[in-house]
Amino acid sequence: MCSQEAFAPVTSRSRSNIFETNRRACKSITSSTIANTIATVNDGVITPVAINHVIDVAQRVVASGAISANGHGNVSLRVAGSDEMYFTGGSSLRNHPAAAVVRVGLDGALREGELPPIQGAVVAMHTAMYADNPDVGCVLHTHSPYATAYAVARRPIGCWVEALAMFGLPSGVPVAGYGPRGSDQAVANIRAAISPGVPAVLLANHGVLVFHRTPDLAIMVGGIVEEAAQAGIRAASIGGPVEVPEELRAAALQRAMAFEAQGTARA
Ligand SMILES: [Zn+2]
Repeated sequence: MCSQEAFAPVTSRSRSNIFETNRRACKSITSSTIANTIATVNDGVITPVAINHVIDVAQRVVASGAISANGHGNVSLRVAGSDEMYFTGGSSLRNHPAAAVVRVGLDGALREGELPPIQGAVVAMHTAMYADNPDVGCVLHTHSPYATAYAVARRPIGCWVEALAMFGLPSGVPVAGYGPRGSDQAVANIRAAISPGVPAVLLANHGVLVFHRTPDLAIMVGGIVEEAAQAGIRAASIGGPVEVPEELRAAALQRAMAFEAQGTARA
């Protein structure tokens, strides 16, 4: 996979002119190539391969450090070419048991496995992201501590960390208004808070939701959001964070893409 693809907004419909200009270096990337990175086996039942894929993503979320101490959260993967997703039905992403991975239709109906009520309640915020964005292949939800602090304070994260400008969040991370987790109201608030191409949103009084084409990209964005939140809170004690000037945010992306197109320098 051409890593320059990492800079593309989450929805192809919303790709910026800057991305399109620089994307020529990525012509070899096809949608099927991308799909292969998110595809899970779909034989109508959950296979060990698919379960391992889901568990691996959950473990990588934990390893990223952008997670609360208790590991609460959930991971889902769209099943390529199907109307369903695989979902972590366990209470924690830490040491998530294979037996708790379930198969759920994008209509929210459980198709295979056992889904406890706490996890069942948040299914709708996963399925909504797949329904709204055909390019989305992975949805992550965590209570990563610093980002959740902003969510609890109901304050958006500004673009004061350059990486936000580079990875689809040049306007920072918005806050979706409170609604009981996974409720129609909560989902409507999420939809109202995000604009096309935005891959992450804070959930008021709850946590963080990240959605992207692949698990790798979703995990990366989850880490950047947590890093930006941590920096924002620490900077508050020394005068407060200062955002990247709006007119330079596109330049940050453009420079990153230009270097990516050149590849690794060697001497
Ligand atoms: Zn939660």
